[in-house]
Amino acid sequence: MKTVGVLALQGDFAAHGAALERAGAAPVYVREREQLAALDGLIIPGGESTTMLKLLGYDGLLDALVEFGRHKPVFGTCAGAILMASHVLSPAQESLGLMDLDIERNAYGRQIDSRVAVLEPEPEFQERTAPGKLEAVFIRAPVIRRVGGGTKVLAWYAGDPVLVENGAHLAATFHPELTRDTRVHALFLEKL
Ligand code: GLN
Repeated sequence: MKTVGVLALQGDFAAHGAALERAGAAPVYVREREQLAALDGLIIPGGESTTMLKLLGYDGLLDALVEFGRHKPVFGTCAGAILMASHVLSPAQESLGLMDLDIERNAYGRQIDSRVAVLEPEPEFQERTAPGKLEAVFIRAPVIRRVGGGTKVLAWYAGDPVLVENGAHLAATFHPELTRDTRVHALFLEKL
């Protein structure tokens, strides 16, 4: 069986662990860079990206994650998607730069700070997982403002990409770990 890590410094890592179990994988909670060598892939959860960045600064974990992402699949959700991006706006902050994306934090504004939307994912997403609409939980979500060449958008909300794939990596601005639908996690597991 493949070994999937969930970065467990801050945020809703336990919900990702439970989602991985529902999708048929056994999660490993990652807090130290020494743990990365044993993993086939890693999930960076939602939470607060600035806090996560600060915690990643200790112990050289930030650089270790950049190196890990050069060889292994990484999936970032919400704050994790912010960390995946090459360019972070409002305010600008450091990131791993694993995906060629511009992402704007807290960009939906207060009125839709947090909401549940029902999306019609792209046919390719449905073909690779299973057919059907996708419930997306947005919590103070960022908006992806630009996707680089070679990036595939697998789901949109209100005209903006919300689930994107580039090579081995995946990013979602919503929280698939908070619904019973395991397709997004299953898609990531397919990449390992
Ligand atoms: N607003 C958070 C940030 O900017 C992300 C929110 C989340 O992960 N649910 O880091």
